[in-house]
Amino acid sequence: MPSAEEILRGLDPEQEEAVRAVRGPVCILAGAGTGKTRAITHRIAYAVATGVVPEQQILAVTFTTRAAGEMRGRLRALGAPRVQARTFHAAALRQLSYFWADAVGGPKPTLIDSKIKTVAAAAHSCGFQVDRTELRDLAAEIEWAKVTQTRPTDYETAVAKEGRTPPMPPRDVARVYEAYEELRSEHNLLDFESMLELTVAMIHERPDIAERIRSQYRYFVVDEFQDVNPLQKLLLDAWLGDRDDICVVGDPNQTIYTFAGATPSYLTGFPEVYPHATVVRLVRDYRSTPQVVRVANAVLRSGGAAALSPDYRMELVAQRPDGPEPTYTEYDDDLAEATAVAEKITGLINAGTPAREIAVLFRTNSQSATYEQALADAGVPYTVRGAAQFFDRPEIRAALHTLRGASRADDGESLVTTVRHLLQPLGLTEQPPEGRQAREKWESLAALAQLAETIAAQRPEARLADFVAELHTRAAIEHAPGFDGVTLASLHAAKGLEWDAVFLVGLTEGLLPIIYAETPEQVEEERRLFYVGVTRAREHLHLSWALARSPGGRRTRTPSRFLDGLRPAAAAPARQHRERHRKKDRMVRCRVCGATLLEAVERTLGRCQDCPASVNEELLERLRHWRREAAALQKVPAFVIFTDATLQA
Ligand code: ATP
Ligand code: MG
Repeated sequence: MPSAEEILRGLDPEQEEAVRAVRGPVCILAGAGTGKTRAITHRIAYAVATGVVPEQQILAVTFTTRAAGEMRGRLRALGAPRVQARTFHAAALRQLSYFWADAVGGPKPTLIDSKIKTVAAAAHSCGFQVDRTELRDLAAEIEWAKVTQTRPTDYETAVAKEGRTPPMPPRDVARVYEAYEELRSEHNLLDFESMLELTVAMIHERPDIAERIRSQYRYFVVDEFQDVNPLQKLLLDAWLGDRDDICVVGDPNQTIYTFAGATPSYLTGFPEVYPHATVVRLVRDYRSTPQVVRVANAVLRSGGAAALSPDYRMELVAQRPDGPEPTYTEYDDDLAEATAVAEKITGLINAGTPAREIAVLFRTNSQSATYEQALADAGVPYTVRGAAQFFDRPEIRAALHTLRGASRADDGESLVTTVRHLLQPLGLTEQPPEGRQAREKWESLAALAQLAETIAAQRPEARLADFVAELHTRAAIEHAPGFDGVTLASLHAAKGLEWDAVFLVGLTEGLLPIIYAETPEQVEEERRLFYVGVTRAREHLHLSWALARSPGGRRTRTPSRFLDGLRPAAAAPARQHRERHRKKDRMVRCRVCGATLLEAVERTLGRCQDCPASVNEELLERLRHWRREAAALQKVPAFVIFTDATLQA
């Protein structure tokens, strides 16, 4: 077990200051790769090693289940294996389950399986006809309302105040929201937000329970604090009571969830709330080469008027030796881009970079498939990160259904035996079968079985119902350990992680910034996503984009505005190209609302279930085609017919 002195070794003076401040409020405000996560991990270990804080009384809150797992791993290595590292949801669910009988009573609620289904039922009960896209938007909107503590009756006012553009008239959204909540309580369903709300209510209403929870957890550490939402903040405050042993770390420039209700103001306002807090700024970048850091700093500097105040620009100072220059490559179409990326990846692997040290990052989950195919064709192993894809797989949905059914009639067998037993009729053989599809299916099921083993090892008392609950709260699921594959991930899912080589793909207008990022604030959030992407790379950074969707297709895309200034030579033509497109846009406008054709329709298109950011590219492509046709024929009046027809298609 490392001694306190050993734990301090390998920290710079500022990190050490934060680590030594074991008691009282601490805030680390710093840029990407400066060692924030490392500092808090060492701080926890140091607090334990010096005996100031009992291990079991520390709760470390991370953004994803994966991050929690990683932190537990690091803490084990630093001699603090019993520290609790969890997401807000996992911690809340545990407390809620534990005190349920006493605090609430009656049957425990079922964790909501598909929010979309419940939202659909709610919309239906209000007499609304909504398509899948609108449903996803509605679900996201209800989620936003809940995390910002906006009641159905206040929703209209809040939407106007926040300048949001809801998928339906605000009054209708409020009705669906209300119906959704009614349905939920009628069927005793629990969603992620109500999980936190109920925990907060329990702590507020039951001083005895509050006391027990507060005596269990006395020291709190929160990573990625820039993306905390009001509901999570309420829970944190409920846990804290009137104490102040809280350490938060974050980077305002990596705030990427304001669309979902998060706000960096809790982070930036922390020193005001706790004037006696130890506030530490870190500037040394330990992750990336000077070449990558230069790009990251340029992105920070390029922020528009809606960007954060210069106080938080926090330029990074590279610590690592020189590496290769980042590359910028334009391709004719998506396929050419994916094929070339797969080729470069093969080159890196052949030159000795392990596949797990390589990532392909994109803005929308729908971009993943092209890369999955290209990598499979090139014989490169890969893994797709993000819970949504995993839980969306048909075999996993079926498995979850079975597991949930069985959990109601638990026969007392051990978790591992039960799960294996249940998965075997589902096709989990001892050895993986032949064929790509069958093998992928097998790998998903094997990952599920593996997870049961991991959980059983951590919590021997865990039953099937706990496992099912855990699956639901997982924000991300890990593939079988030891699997060496290239990571495919959305930029949102890449937060906090790092790889030797990062490929940022699809850097075009419409994808990054995403097409529906309209307000300057929304564009700035897209820029921060770009910053998150750039700063994931340790050494190799490849930025690329494609002008057309398919081979031989029309070159309808322009390079992302975020590339302007990063590659000086190409910046001007890109801007001109975009300007030309804007002019064309102006030709076709709705006579009623004045929106361009594309704008009007895009607003009604929306997000996918997995990622509130993805758009239906296929449909958009068709719209772009129609817009050009309409522009060419000067057929402005066709607008309405065309819009209706397309929306029905
Ligand atoms: P992000 O904002 O992306 O979450 P971060 O600030 O949390 O980044 P870490 O992930 O903690 O940064 O650290 C980035 C990398 O730098 C890691 O590989 C970490 O091990 C390394 N690192 C951090 N501090 C030091 C240090 N003092 N000396 C050497 N390496 C360090
Ligand atoms: Mg971090």
